[in-house]
Amino acid sequence: MPNNGRRFFIFLIALLVTGFLSVSLLSYFSARQSLSDQVVSEILPLTSVSVYSKIKQDLLHPISIASLMAHDTFVRDWVMEGEVEPERMTRYLKEIQGKYQATTSFFVSDSSRKYYHSSGVLREVDLTDSKDAWYQRVSQMSKDYEINIDIESRALNQLTVFINYRVYDYQGNYIGVTGVGLGVNSMQEMIESYRSSLNLDIFFTDYQGNILLYGPSFMPDGESYNNLRDIPGLEQVSQTLLTERSSELSYYKQGARVHLNSRLIEEFNWHLFVERQDDPWDKRIWWPLLINLAIGCLVSLLIIILVVMVIHRYQKQLKDLAETDKLTGVRNRRGFEQIWQLLSQSSKKRAENDGLGIVLLDIDHFKRVNDQYGHLIGDKVIEQTARCIKQQLKPDNDYIVRWGGEEFLLLLEGADAEFVQQKAEQIREAVANNKVETDSGLFSITVSIGCTLWDGREGADHVIHRADEAMYLAKTAGRNQVCSDLPGTQEFTAVTID
Ligand code: GH3
Ligand code: MG
Ligand code: MG
Repeated sequence: MPNNGRRFFIFLIALLVTGFLSVSLLSYFSARQSLSDQVVSEILPLTSVSVYSKIKQDLLHPISIASLMAHDTFVRDWVMEGEVEPERMTRYLKEIQGKYQATTSFFVSDSSRKYYHSSGVLREVDLTDSKDAWYQRVSQMSKDYEINIDIESRALNQLTVFINYRVYDYQGNYIGVTGVGLGVNSMQEMIESYRSSLNLDIFFTDYQGNILLYGPSFMPDGESYNNLRDIPGLEQVSQTLLTERSSELSYYKQGARVHLNSRLIEEFNWHLFVERQDDPWDKRIWWPLLINLAIGCLVSLLIIILVVMVIHRYQKQLKDLAETDKLTGVRNRRGFEQIWQLLSQSSKKRAENDGLGIVLLDIDHFKRVNDQYGHLIGDKVIEQTARCIKQQLKPDNDYIVRWGGEEFLLLLEGADAEFVQQKAEQIREAVANNKVETDSGLFSITVSIGCTLWDGREGADHVIHRADEAMYLAKTAGRNQVCSDLPGTQEFTAVTID
């Protein structure tokens, strides 16, 4: 391929690659952006709403049970009567726990500090012990109840949501705390399911930002956050998040972009957080990019193959055009050079009787044709003579070249001296017998022919010169004849035909 052709191909490939790559990357980034937008505007708020209503639904029922217990006349009467027969209280708590399928149920008396449980009197609440700090808090709080997540002492390490409800006597004096506890399994399962289906992290904090409940992948290995402000990237904004009823923001956690949605669950004084980390390897955007690139490569390849084919065809057409004579449709001198290269290479290897015959032909007194009938008829004669000669040639072994104005050169493969002469004679006769039609009637022309055989070494100029000399002889000997310089034939002797 010529240099500028190669440059064109490199340019074409670069253009296609740049085009497809930029389109693919553009659509990749826009898909990433729209996925991000969808996360912020739809997935996070919708998840937040549904988690909020599920939590509310899950916790409202135990709150009403705790309320029922706190207002129960049996509980109040029994405390005011001096907590006699503790098994009555135990039985009551057991009934409640069984009926409402709670994990635990309890009553703590403010006067005796006894912690009654469905399984009996557990112990006395010790206000100096940190694990009983909740009691201190509840006994001083102004609200009727709180929701507290803690480890239930009886069931080892099992996280439990406690509804701590204050109990008053009939005069409104505070007499203790009652309530139920529930396992957080169902909440944790819900958090898990959001994680696995939508890649969302859900966690809850209390109004101070203390993290209450979260999924297993929320804290990376080795990290431990107790409070919202401990989360990398949220240090500065944690206070704002805890004062807003709802908010949304994006932040960077360990180099990754995270979209966060927060909401206050007023009923429990909790904050619900739903967040999702941008995943550049998300297959919803990664796959289309790969498919785009694959299509791009395929289309580029097809375009390149197509262009190569078209250019190749176009170049061949140009070459054929440059090597073909317009008037007769046979090879011109440029075409001769190509065929000479080919034939002289292959003929060198040939046997003696398989030589290359060279025949030069010139129309006799052609000037007269032009003068008498005009140039158009002259052209017609040249064209018809070419056709007439071609009819005598074997398409696979013989070649015809328009050598000059009304001169033709023939190359005959697999020829010997006798064959060349015979063929020349045959052509001479065919041309002489051909009738050219004009408005004023028919006429015919003759040709003078010189022929020879290539010696297998000499150059084209040399052998054509020999054929030319033979033709000159034919002209001088009276035209319309064949002359040759071949051994075994009449050397340079005109064969005159009447
Ligand atoms: P001779 O027998 O000696 O060959 O006589 P001649 O008249 O053929 O002489 P010559 O070969 O010198 O003349 C060739 C003429 O052919 C001269 C030129 O005007 C004419 N000719 C060459 N090419 C064309 C062509 O393409 N069309 C036409 N109409 N005439 C051409
Ligand atoms: Mg001539
Ligand atoms: Mg002539």
